[in-house]
Amino acid sequence: MVKVGVLALQGAVREHVTCLQAPDVEVIVVKKIEQLSELDGLVLPGGESTTMRRLIDKYEFLEPLKAFAASGKPVFGTCAGLILMAKDIVGQNEGHLSLMNMTVERNAFGRQRESFEADLMVTDVGDDVRAVFIRAPLIKEVGENVEIISKFNDEIVAAREGRFLACSFHPELTDDHRFHQYFVKMVAQAKLEGVKSV
Ligand code: GLN
Repeated sequence: MVKVGVLALQGAVREHVTCLQAPDVEVIVVKKIEQLSELDGLVLPGGESTTMRRLIDKYEFLEPLKAFAASGKPVFGTCAGLILMAKDIVGQNEGHLSLMNMTVERNAFGRQRESFEADLMVTDVGDDVRAVFIRAPLIKEVGENVEIISKFNDEIVAAREGRFLACSFHPELTDDHRFHQYFVKMVAQAKLEGVKSV
């Protein structure tokens, strides 16, 4: 049994909870800092990254979230969650949680393509993973330890760096739960290996 939290300050929280639900997973809706200590892994949902950051600051979540990630516990960010995880954001002086060595561009598909769906090949997840893009960011550059796990039209839309996983789309808005199952496997593996051996 693993305990996976969904940060519930803003955004598509309920959808992630539904996707994570499985006999070997206890899903926890995280509204308080104290709840982080009981988790084996954490999901940062999509929504709006500047709003989410404001709420993270308001409820003093920034340092506890960084400490959670630094302890080696897996983190999975979708869309705005991916933006929170990037070290660099185009046009901004600094990242938010700055967990993954990558540069992201917000709202990178422009107005014409505010939202759309596609079936994507995602390494170790599937070759027809349903992806919903909504005012989605793109990963413009990755550092050497970052594995690119999916591309759409030659642009990077999902990546993994050790125990951190991020995608620019919303797997939680589909009935395809494979991306979440993949993250749960990462969480179970990390729990088995222990948090300090990162
Ligand atoms: N465009 C949003 C942002 O910059 C992200 C959109 C989403 O999470 N669907 O935060």
